[in-house]
This record gives sequence, structure tokens and C-alpha cells, in this order.
Amino acid sequence: MDTATFNDIGAVVEADRAHVWHHLTQHKAFETIDPRVVVEGKGLRVWDATGRETLDAVSGGVWTVNVGYGRESIANAVRDQLLKMNYFAGAAGSVPGAIFAQMLTDKMPGLTRVYYSNSGSEANEKAYKMVRQIAHAKHGGKKWKILYRERDYHGTTIAALASGGQEERKSMYGPFPEGFIPVPHCLEYRSQWGDVADYGLRAANAIEEVILREGADTVGAIILEPVTAGGGVITPPEGYWPRVQEICKQYGLLLIIDEVVCGVGRTGKWFGYQQYDIQPDIVTMAKGLASGYAAISCTVTTEAVFEMFKDAADPMAHFRDISTFGGCTAGPAAAIENMRIIEEEDLLGNTTAMGERLMGNLHKLMEKHSVIGDVRGKGLFCGAELVADRATKEPMAESKVAAVVAAVMKRGVQIGMTNRSLPGFNNTLCLSPALIVTAAQIDQITDAIDGALTEVCG
Ligand code: PMP
Repeated sequence: MDTATFNDIGAVVEADRAHVWHHLTQHKAFETIDPRVVVEGKGLRVWDATGRETLDAVSGGVWTVNVGYGRESIANAVRDQLLKMNYFAGAAGSVPGAIFAQMLTDKMPGLTRVYYSNSGSEANEKAYKMVRQIAHAKHGGKKWKILYRERDYHGTTIAALASGGQEERKSMYGPFPEGFIPVPHCLEYRSQWGDVADYGLRAANAIEEVILREGADTVGAIILEPVTAGGGVITPPEGYWPRVQEICKQYGLLLIIDEVVCGVGRTGKWFGYQQYDIQPDIVTMAKGLASGYAAISCTVTTEAVFEMFKDAADPMAHFRDISTFGGCTAGPAAAIENMRIIEEEDLLGNTTAMGERLMGNLHKLMEKHSVIGDVRGKGLFCGAELVADRATKEPMAESKVAAVVAAVMKRGVQIGMTNRSLPGFNNTLCLSPALIVTAAQIDQITDAIDGALTEVCG
């Protein structure tokens, strides 16, 4: 067969079917249907190989394209930088790397240092390696354990997966490295302690119980998403975060906040943790940093964390880590322009306003459709949990949730659903349009859900 070319889309689809292994996909389906190949995007609109147009309400599938498709100024910034200096590895800095680190930390009071890599998983691995090195260098090998929360997700590599709270993602990939310890989730709608008055406090205190069980001298850090994303769009309950911060201080835990989804505007502030007045020690981010125009992730730390790696008397005390493509300049060049766009177009303001409209619309849908058990979210990061029975909260069958998502797609809108999961957690519709979304597009998204729920659930 001849090699497919850019302007023979039929051949491209066949090349895809024959040679590409898609993420998160059961390929058996492609024996009877064509794989979906996306061809073009503009704003929130996407066209696939069949010429079909959809409104993308999930920012590229996984909360990534925050400033929308087709941004010429980002493409130009990347092009100019690549022609001037595309890459240099290791100890050398770069012009866009330095500028973006300054711009970024400017938005993050209390944090000062930026460590570059390429994906969310990698950014979290860097954070874990920092914790482990601090354990060896400063705590005599103690404080090496890292706590993570049920339902949170921190990436796909083996250690990142070890710290993931979604069992269905882990079950085929063990054994895992030691020292990653779960703490209970904080989804009040599915309270694991019944009807408690102070659920947020109860869920935070459950972290303390784990620390005391493990021994505070063995636990070095906890990693948490500000709002849990793929695990069910879980907004923290009242009182949760202040108590978590208190517990971290009391037991000397570094607080790692995973902003891979919430970061760079998604919730209506630059970072999700800023919605809850948290002061983290380490913050990781990826996806929306450059809106998918280039691969980039950052592990951002306080000066106090950084200082622990700066002992001139011990030449081995520096962070003994490298990321080859952390030396690519396309990432920070794109991220600079991405941040400039968010500022210039007041996309934080738009996110807050449009997020309120989206939540308002979802609450109206809830009045009409009894299969919506709960709606949750912050900014343009919303979820609607579907149930078979609102009174008993029995989860809607996963196949039926998938049918709803397909029926929404039939109406020209792409939404997502939380990952295949433990019973009771695989039933949340995910909505996260680009931060440029308009009121008319928000209504188009919720109208499509309205129609789909009527079609599938009656
Ligand atoms: N953290 C969170 C909260 C995520 O949602 C993801 C990806 N979905 C990751 C980390 C991992 O990011 P990546 O896929 O870029 O490795």
C-alpha cells in the first residue's frame, strides 16, 4: 500500500486502522466501524475525517485545550522559537523557560521554582522523587511514604499509578512500588460514614487516622487534586481543606497539589488550590499549560523545598533527575502565549461567568430529569452524576451512561464520562469546554444533554 498523504483522508483512516494503537480503546470495534480521526479545529468546533462537525465540551477529550483550537499566535510563537533555538538538554536554561517560570510563579504567591518536564505523570513523578530524596537527605531515610486519596488520579506511569485511587485503572499493572498509601475519598454524595454533620471535617480527619496508623515519622507527603477530575468531578466538602492544611503542618507532611486538570484557569482562578486558600509546598501541572499546542509540564515548589537540594558541601545533594524533553523550548514558548491570551481575553472572568451559567443549566435539568442525582463543579469543570433511582442513589448502569454520552454526540456535542470504575463511581457526565465558551454554546451543550436524557431515559 502507498504511504498515506495529508490530502488523502481515506488513506489516512486506513493507515490509522492498520497501524495506530489508540489510547483507552478496545480495537475490536474498528473491525466494523472506522476509527475517528480528527482533522481540524477552530474555537470549540472540531471536524473529523468524515467532515462531521462537533462542539467539543471536553477541551480535546481530557480538559486540555483551554484557549480553544486554531490559535495562530501560539503557533507563531512556537515557530519563531523553534527556528531560533529548539532544544538544549540538561543544566542549560532557555529564554522562554526563564520567562515562563517568572510569569508562572508570579501567579503563585509562596512558590518560586519551576522544574520542566513533559506530562502530568512525569510532573508527579518528579514531585515523588523530591519527597524521596528529602527523606533520604533530611530525615535519615524516614518520611518516605506518600499518601494519596481514593478516586484521585495522578498519571499512567507505574509510580504515578501506584498513587492513583481508581482501582480499575490499576488492577492489571501490579505489583506496584511500596510506600503509596490511600486515604478515603471526600465525595459527600456517596458518604462512606453515613449522614454525618461535618462531612468535610470527617473526611479530613480520616487522613490523620491514616498518618497515625502508618506512623507520622514514616509519612513525608500527601498528593491531592483540588477538585477530583476523572474520579467523579468531586468538589471538596465544606471545612475539608483548612483541616487538611492543618494536618499537613502538624505532622510535617509536604502538601503536593495536582493541578494537571484544575490548573491554568479551569476553575476560574489561575489554580484550583487558590479557590480554597491552600498554601501548597509542591504544585504539578500539565494539560492546559500550553493548551495542547506543545507538550509541557511543570513541578513548581517553594523556595524552602528547593533549598533542601542546595547544599554546596555535598555535591550529591542536588536533585539527581533529568527529563530529556524538559529541554524543549516549544513548551514554554507556547505556555507564555497561552497565559497572555488568558489574561488579555479575561478568560478567568469568562470561566467564572460561564461556569455559573453551566451549573445553573444543570440544576434546571436536574429538576426535569430524575436520573440526575447530583451536580458538582467549579468554573468550567462540571459533572452530573446519573442514578437509576434518585431516592436510593443506585448508580445508573455504565452502559446506559455511555448511551447518554452517545446520544449527546448524535446531537453534535462531545461530552465525557468518568472512568470505568468501582460501582457507584462510573456514572458522572463530565463537562469542561474551553475557557472561551459563549453563553449560546453553554446552552447548546445542556440542550443536547436534555434531549439525550429524554431519548435514553424517558
Ligand atoms: N493528574 C491528573 C489529575 C490527571 O487528570 C492526569 C491525566 N488525565 C494526570 C495527572 C496525568 O497526566 P498525563 O496524562 O499528562 O501524564
